Amino acid sequence: MSKSLVLFCDFDGTITEKDNIVAIMRRFAPPQWEALTEQILSQQVSIREGVGRLFQLLPSSLKQEIVDFIVEDAVIRPGFAEFVRFCRDEGIELLITSGGIDFFVEPILAPFELNVPIYCNGSDFSGEHITITWPHRCDEHCDNDCGMCKTSIIRRYDPDRHFRVVIGDSVTDLAGAKIADFVIARSLLAQKCAELGLAHRTFATFHDVIDIVKDLRTKQEVGSP
Ligand SMILES: [Mg+2]
Ligand SMILES: [Zn+2]
Repeated sequence: MSKSLVLFCDFDGTITEKDNIVAIMRRFAPPQWEALTEQILSQQVSIREGVGRLFQLLPSSLKQEIVDFIVEDAVIRPGFAEFVRFCRDEGIELLITSGGIDFFVEPILAPFELNVPIYCNGSDFSGEHITITWPHRCDEHCDNDCGMCKTSIIRRYDPDRHFRVVIGDSVTDLAGAKIADFVIARSLLAQKCAELGLAHRTFATFHDVIDIVKDLRTKQEVGSP
């Protein structure tokens, strides 16, 4: 019996060309956002703690202005609409697994009328500053304090029955890439996959991703659920 294919697709830097949290901070945050971002990248603070503190720099009253800015600013990687249609037509299970926040992930994706689960962090604008909520925290197998824990979601798919493919661009996808069956990678993630000898192919557009998924279905004998 063939395994069913499931795709875990990152958002920032993968579906969108750039990182939206960085774009929002650059535009709206006071200067200390840069030092905080350094602390996250150098792993002095966890992603959850660091991202939480970054958004605490922003007043809740800016909500609509931030949403309008980011919807305008975000550039979708070419081929994404075709990729979504391809997965739908072929009955391939697709999940969006994002370390981004609902208030920008959802409006950016809205035009694509995705009929798939979108896992991301939540937000609360009831206080003076923006509070990030964390509905998808790490399970008992992960102690990274990810915020939105990608490996926890991947682990819910039994590897005996699923061929699990991570699509991503960055170190935030690396833990998931290590436990996946295959990785479709660009940028830093592609470099890390090569260094670690993880089974992967690289992509620049979602047209490439479609071709790679087609090849996987032929060569790995993976099917649809
Ligand atoms: Mg990313
Ligand atoms: Zn985690």
